[in-house]
Amino acid sequence: MADTTARDPLHGVTLEEVLNALLKRHGWAGLGRRIPVRCFLYQPSVKSSLAFLRKTPWARKKVEDWYVRELPRRAPAPAAVPGITSVARTIAEAMGVKEGLEPSAVPADARVLKLLPAGGVRKVLVYAPDAIGRRMTAVHPELFEGIKAAGFRPFDLHSVFPSKTPVCFASMFSGLPPAGHGITQYEKPVIKCRTIFDALPAAGLKTAIAAVKDSSIDLIFRGRQADYFSEEYDPQVTARALELIEKGAHDFILAYHQEYDDLLHSDGPWKDGSIAAVKRHTEAFLELAEAFDKKWAGVPRAVLFAPDHGGHTDPATGKGVHGAAIPADMDLTHFWKFSA
Ligand SMILES: [Zn+2]
Repeated sequence: MADTTARDPLHGVTLEEVLNALLKRHGWAGLGRRIPVRCFLYQPSVKSSLAFLRKTPWARKKVEDWYVRELPRRAPAPAAVPGITSVARTIAEAMGVKEGLEPSAVPADARVLKLLPAGGVRKVLVYAPDAIGRRMTAVHPELFEGIKAAGFRPFDLHSVFPSKTPVCFASMFSGLPPAGHGITQYEKPVIKCRTIFDALPAAGLKTAIAAVKDSSIDLIFRGRQADYFSEEYDPQVTARALELIEKGAHDFILAYHQEYDDLLHSDGPWKDGSIAAVKRHTEAFLELAEAFDKKWAGVPRAVLFAPDHGGHTDPATGKGVHGAAIPADMDLTHFWKFSA
């Protein structure tokens, strides 16, 4: 199953999403120039164009081929880029922590460590929004312009299978594949292996987790020498994280937001309301990053935007799902910034 769907770049993408993406990039004028059909040229609307394309296979093919050609080139194979399992050791090594993770934890991401200031960093902020995959950054690059403008560098990574939130975050912060940390499906037990929430406190680093109450991140890393903040929803997490940053008592802060994932499941990954939630996530991230920079100006530090997995439209329901071994679910982009 994975073979054909994984290779079909249109898998899980509706014609309406294709048209809207092209429209956003090229406008009706651009569409009409390239594919001069009446519905693009005279009083164009999404509705009439969809009706036309659905009954005109040659035109539909032109539109879909164009969309596929403009997709960023995919990683040839999942192993070609590091996995999210590399994040744990990358964070630990950036902070000068050599011990404390499981010996089998995956090595750090050498691409990221190249950016590390000499002597490493002393403060780290990680913002983990749920379900924002690489396809989101490809289809809606405008939502990530602020992050790039603020000096963040993108790093492509692949998620772990099954691409479900607790599985992915357990891998991200332990450095182990699902079989190694023990969460292999959607369940939220406290994981028993060592994680950065063990390694950092053992090295004397004060660690805090602010997350939506009962979310995966809120639950699976419990029982460590870390400070836990369970909040009602994203805005309260943001407020808590800003408060923690301002107090300055922690060396490592993890903040988790989940609104986009909620809307992906209830409405669909590409609906306007869902995209608006992605915008709120990127804006909240920039707000936190800015407060962090202000607080720790002059102190070597790192900030990371680290989603867990992507998502796609379930053709049967039209709603969003994830968990499959397909690029839409597995391909991620993380954003790092180091400052000295
Ligand atoms: Zn989800």
